[in-house]
Amino acid sequence: MKVQKSSGSFKQIEKDIYQITLPQPFYLDNHIYLILDEKPLLIDSGYIESGIYLAKVLKDIGISLNKIKYIFYTHPHIDHISGGMLLRGYVDHIKTLGHYLLSTDIPNYMNYVHDWYKETARFLKISCKTKSESEKKINDFKMDWNSYLTNLQKQNPRKRPDEIIYIDIPLKENDIISTGKYNFKVIETPGHSKWHLSLAEENYKWFFSGDLIIGNIPAIYHNWDGNFNLFRNTLDKVLQYSNYNFFPAHGNAINNPKKEIRIVQKSLAIIEKSILRSLSIKPKNLREVSELLFSGKPENKEDNWFIALALIESILKSLTAKKLAKEIKNKYQLY
Ligand SMILES: [Zn+2]
Repeated sequence: MKVQKSSGSFKQIEKDIYQITLPQPFYLDNHIYLILDEKPLLIDSGYIESGIYLAKVLKDIGISLNKIKYIFYTHPHIDHISGGMLLRGYVDHIKTLGHYLLSTDIPNYMNYVHDWYKETARFLKISCKTKSESEKKINDFKMDWNSYLTNLQKQNPRKRPDEIIYIDIPLKENDIISTGKYNFKVIETPGHSKWHLSLAEENYKWFFSGDLIIGNIPAIYHNWDGNFNLFRNTLDKVLQYSNYNFFPAHGNAINNPKKEIRIVQKSLAIIEKSILRSLSIKPKNLREVSELLFSGKPENKEDNWFIALALIESILKSLTAKKLAKEIKNKYQLY
C-alpha cells in the first residue's frame, strides 16, 4: 500500500511498520519509521518544518500524534531530531530516547547546528572556483538555515522547540526498548556521528540503521561530530547483522546488507589508496586531492559535493592520525 501526499507519504513495509517519507531542504527525503504496537514508537522525527506533515501522515495511517509513546533519535542531525524537539512541546507524554551522552555533550543545540553550518560553508567555499560562486552557494544554504531559525522564533513560546536535547530514556549498547510485541536492541554505531545508534529486532530480523548505510557513503565531518575510523569499525561490527533487513533513514530498504556494506568498505579502501597515491605526486590542498580522486572539478558535480569533501578530509585526518602516511602533514597544505 502506498499513499502519496504532496507534503509527505507513507508505505506499509511490514505488518506493523510504516515508512513515512518527509521532505527536507538539506539532503534526500527523510524516512521515519512508525512501529505500530502497544506503545507506538517513531524512529527519528524528521526536520522541524516537516513536523506538521508528520502529524498529518500519522493521521492518514490512522494514529494521532497523541498516541505516540516514544520517539527514538538515531543521531542528533537536524533532519532527524529537530522535528521531535518541536513535537515534544506539543505532546507532553512523548518520551524521547537517544544516546546517553547526547544531552551532556550538546549543551546547546543551536550552537551545535551552527557549527555544522560553519563547516558546511567552509566546504562549499573550497568546492567553488570563484568567490562569487561560493558566496551564492553559501547564501542558498544560509537561506535554509535561516528558515529554521525563523521557524524557531515563530513558535508559540510554550511550543518552541527545545534548545536542549532532552533525552527521557538515555540508551547504551544492548539496552532493550520494548513496544509490546517487539523488542529493539540498541546498537552503538558511531562514525557518521559519534552519537549514532541503530536498533535491531532480533526475532523479526529488522535493523533500523539511520544514516549508517544510505546508498552513498554518508557525510563524515571530522571537525564536527564524525569520525572515519569509528565509521569503519562500525561497518565491521554491523556485518554480523547481514541476515537482517536494513531500514535506512534515506533511500531504499536494504535486503542484502552484506553486499552494501562490502561495497562501502571497498569504496573507502579505494578512496584511501587513491588519496595516498595522489599525495605522493605533489603537495595538494583538499580541493586538489578531491579533483584527482573524482577526476573532475567539484563545481561541475552535483550539489552534494561538499559531502564528498567532508569525507575526504575525514580520511586525511585518519591517515595522519594513524601515521600511515608520514609525509601527509607536510604535503597536505591544510595541516
Ligand atoms: Zn546524519
